[in-house]
Amino acid sequence: MRNKEVAAVLYMIADLLDIKGEKFKPNAYRRAARVMEMMEEDIEVLAAGQKLKDISGIGEAITEKTAEYLKTGKVAVLEELRKEIPQGVVEMLDIPGVGPKTAGLVWKELGIMDVEGLKKAVQEHRLLKLKGFGEKKEAKILRGIEFLAEAKKRTPIGIALPLAEEMVALVKGSAPVINMSYAGSLRRMRETVGDLDFLAVSSKREEVVRAFTSMPFVREIVVAGDTKATVILDSGIQADLRVLDEGSWGSGLQYFTGSKDHNVHLRTIAQRQGLKLSEYGVFRGEERIAGATEEDVYRSLGMQYIEPEMREDAGEIEAAQEGRLPRLLTMADVLGDFHVHTSLSDGGDTLEEMIDAARARGYAYVGISDHSMSLKVARGVSVDDLMKRRDEIRNINQTSGDFRILLGTECEILANGDLDYPDEVLRELDYVIASVHSRFNMQIAEMTDRVLAAVNHPYVNILAHPFTGMVQRREPIQLDLERVAEEAAERGTALEINAFPDRLDLSGPQARLAKEKGAKLVIDTDSHSVDHLAFMRFGVGTARRGWLEPDDVVNCWPYERVREFLSR
Ligand SMILES: [Zn+2]
Ligand SMILES: [Zn+2]
Repeated sequence: MRNKEVAAVLYMIADLLDIKGEKFKPNAYRRAARVMEMMEEDIEVLAAGQKLKDISGIGEAITEKTAEYLKTGKVAVLEELRKEIPQGVVEMLDIPGVGPKTAGLVWKELGIMDVEGLKKAVQEHRLLKLKGFGEKKEAKILRGIEFLAEAKKRTPIGIALPLAEEMVALVKGSAPVINMSYAGSLRRMRETVGDLDFLAVSSKREEVVRAFTSMPFVREIVVAGDTKATVILDSGIQADLRVLDEGSWGSGLQYFTGSKDHNVHLRTIAQRQGLKLSEYGVFRGEERIAGATEEDVYRSLGMQYIEPEMREDAGEIEAAQEGRLPRLLTMADVLGDFHVHTSLSDGGDTLEEMIDAARARGYAYVGISDHSMSLKVARGVSVDDLMKRRDEIRNINQTSGDFRILLGTECEILANGDLDYPDEVLRELDYVIASVHSRFNMQIAEMTDRVLAAVNHPYVNILAHPFTGMVQRREPIQLDLERVAEEAAERGTALEINAFPDRLDLSGPQARLAKEKGAKLVIDTDSHSVDHLAFMRFGVGTARRGWLEPDDVVNCWPYERVREFLSR
């Protein structure tokens, strides 16, 4: 289906018309885009049958443009607008807190042509001359610009990890490699990464370097030496390779995995013991006493092996010295997923498809949680449809053997803290996820009260993506996590680590804080299609950054214990 693609084009036209200052047209385009996003019929099928004009809410002019786009891949109006409006002004729309009206105003009134110019104007307080602009708004724009600049430097893990894995596979496939891995913050499962770092061991070093530099998506070779290479990929990401000798594999991997703070701390410990730690190994005088494996490196320094995700110098070294590191959960511990959307709301696949895909992952159970009724942009589910869904799932459970399907909802937390379905409806469900999807701008006290109302609601079991941030796209809401975690612990409400790579919310350190306050956590993919179920690994990586063990995470528990937790 190309519905979403067409909707994106219409939204873009609306934004550009808004920048120009057009009055009513932008909203007509947005309305049409929303209709298209929510429509179940395939837009191409309708166009082929000359049926576009039958869609309600879309006027003739926009119908024509839709047909034009589907046929040619272009819309003349959009091309015109792009010529009229400087690209730099359009790029301002990427700044959180800057909409098309603001971008249009600063362009037309102040002649600002790009993000850099906007930053300068804000710093010189030139925006204050514009109607409706105060110091608060200026500060918000400046924060947004800084947020965007930071975001552009780094690649989200959802892109970086599959790419790095493909690169390792490509090199292994075309050169004799004994060992190869990515390192750096990617191996520590950070939400975003800068450069990609690779390490390899091989008896044929030049062949490895050649394989690395001749990968199909290498745009530019910066360095290609005997033991190292640096390339720039088509996407603009820099990738570095170092080929090590076998005896340095562990120490090299340790060194290039970081973090910097972790390594600095380790080196001081080595020095105190009269040892020298480097990328080449652990040395006593001239003698290398460890280096072939990471396990050896840590052991030689008198401590437990520390998993990469914990290497942030956040107490893990002390814990390792005292032999009290947690037994971090792994993918194998995960037995289910509670945050799964279907085509009943804004998911792309049907109930049956999502259930089959969850079962195929080897899970013991899956929870289905479509959006609640007031979230119109995501086709929230009516009470009637939800009750039909309940009967459907009861039937499926009759024949599903040991695999259990739970019916939940992702229920809106309304602005006043109320939930979007009445209690009589919530009571009929196996569990309830509560989420904030609107009114993101509340002050911390008000927002915390709003969220706490949901956390303490008798039918709520899970608080989804507590900060509602989007990695590199939207700043988190203001929330007192300590209080939320304390009350969640008391109430038996789990806090979610949303594994969708655009979210990763809670973060590792936040999850660790929640655990320290006694709260249970749950790792959910927030899947909107069968492919998304595989995002679980990003959530598990985040949980490991938060020092979590299987006992801390509800979906690592067997079904009976889950039932008990949900029915408290
Ligand atoms: Zn949500
Ligand atoms: Zn969701």
